[in-house]
Amino acid sequence: DKEKKIISGALDFNDIKVREVMTKLDDVFMLELHSCLNFETIAKIAQEGYSRIPVYEETRDNIVGLLHVKDFTLLDPDDNMPVEALLKFYNHARIFCDAEETIDERFEEFRKGETHLAFVYDIVDQPDKDPIKKCIGIVTLEDIIEELVQME
Ligand code: ATP
Ligand code: ATP
Repeated sequence: DKEKKIISGALDFNDIKVREVMTKLDDVFMLELHSCLNFETIAKIAQEGYSRIPVYEETRDNIVGLLHVKDFTLLDPDDNMPVEALLKFYNHARIFCDAEETIDERFEEFRKGETHLAFVYDIVDQPDKDPIKKCIGIVTLEDIIEELVQME
């Protein structure tokens, strides 16, 4: 329809990179794999208000999974459920994208798939070694739509 045409048309003409619209890793609300879902943690999750929460192990750039806020709805805070147990139970897919990907490419990927959050990686050169990929943030469909609206 007309609306779709306008959006994809606008996207064809830009070369904005995912890096420019992502949320930086330091600003991402996450849970550690070995933590427990006690009352304080559940209250914090509700307070932050995000619908998707990445899970890391030990260091924040080591992403091991993703939880959805609805995964927490049946929890009893008194059970102190380990994050790891919940993560394994729901087992939501993680998707990754290159920081250099353009936002129109990312939009197309989000449109094709079911997951609307991707982990953004950067390719880091190391002396005398192969370059490594390092997680530097997250990007959601919302970040891309927001950029589009600003362009008008
Ligand atoms: P929804 O709108 O589907 O409820 P949401 O509000 O949790 O989801 P989005 O609307 O996808 O999240 O994104 C809004 C902004 O919040 C974006 O800039 C996105 O990068 C950021 N964001 C999403 N999840 C997190 C998170 N766990 N921690 C920090 N920022 C996040
Ligand atoms: P393959 O070699 O099979 O293509 P890959 O290592 O490229 O695997 P992908 O699942 O395609 O893995 O993910 C792309 C990139 O995302 C990875 O190379 C890595 O940089 C990053 N990534 C993968 N796992 C993690 C993780 N646990 N934490 C942070 N970044 C990760």
